[in-house]
Amino acid sequence: MYPRIIIKENQILENSRHMVKHCQENGITYVMGIVKVFAGQMDIIEDLAQTGWSHIGDSRIENLKKMKDIPLPKVLVRLPMISEVDDVIAYTDVSLNSEIKTIRHLNLKAKSKQKKHQIILMFDLGDLREGLFYKDDYNQTIKEILEMKHIELIGIGTNLTCYGGLVPSPEILGRLVHIKNQIESAFQIQLKIISGGNSSTVTLFDQNKIPKDINSLRLGESIIFGKETSYSTDIKGYYHDNFLFQAEIIECQMKPSFPDGPTTINSFGEKVNIEDKGMMKRAILAVGKQDVLFENLNPVDEQVHIIGGSSDHLILDVTGQDYQVGDIVSFHINYPGLLHLMNSSYIKKVIQKK
Ligand SMILES: *Cc1c(COP(=O)(O)O)cnc(C)c1O
Repeated sequence: MYPRIIIKENQILENSRHMVKHCQENGITYVMGIVKVFAGQMDIIEDLAQTGWSHIGDSRIENLKKMKDIPLPKVLVRLPMISEVDDVIAYTDVSLNSEIKTIRHLNLKAKSKQKKHQIILMFDLGDLREGLFYKDDYNQTIKEILEMKHIELIGIGTNLTCYGGLVPSPEILGRLVHIKNQIESAFQIQLKIISGGNSSTVTLFDQNKIPKDINSLRLGESIIFGKETSYSTDIKGYYHDNFLFQAEIIECQMKPSFPDGPTTINSFGEKVNIEDKGMMKRAILAVGKQDVLFENLNPVDEQVHIIGGSSDHLILDVTGQDYQVGDIVSFHINYPGLLHLMNSSYIKKVIQKK
């Protein structure tokens, strides 16, 4: 059945176990495994949850709902919507937060359910996505949170290299450590978790550059692709080739490479630049932009080139190659490609446990 994505589960599980050890060597005792890219595919998520993580996290409450039997604390890593606090209290143990108004709602809802909800307060160290800006005065917010009976402030965290591309460094993470020290001495409390970011912080491993107070990371891509995300390089000693995407050829014919007649925009409203390469052997695959963006695919056969397509079709230049209708073409994919494909109900997911 095609199109399909083959997931090499054993390699990902091994990456995860390796990463947990690697984290411990770098003072990271709380490894939060972030599984949002699997879009709630429980078959693999259940196995990943047994590789030594302290917490499991996702950005969508719908996915966390499916994980209620997983014996790990569940973390909502996107800031909660006020309209979803019911579900946040019911299906998660921890949420990342930056808005006192939302935290008040969480407190009230937790009270009505006689629960205690844990939060990690997010600080923006300059990347400019979520979090209280690190230079602003946050003491009033902390004071109010500490007075809430149904909220437990278990720690603080930050997110780097997501919007602004801010690269983790001892100096940048030092800003978070400074905030920790300031809060702990002003309020005479101990913060359990200091969450120093995502897979981009892994860049600082093995160089002794992670400040010792940072004791937690939230990791997805570095486990699933064996990649750090500051410079997008493969981390040595990990598996990188953990997925294969395959689609079937539904037409394969010799045609001109240049449109025959006057041209306008394509089906996506774009003006495309088409180069005239003379006659070309063209293969059409039964997969389209509604399943994956083509720039996130990389043909395994280096003689094959993606030239474009539309919602339901991907066109390849297979000139000089031995392809015919009914053949299967394979691709490597990157993180955005995986995210998109996992979310398409038209793509079959094949989990190879070996
Ligand atoms: C997705 C996400 C992560 C994990 O990011 P990776 O780069 O995949 O490690 C961590 N924290 C937050 C808030 C996220 O949204």
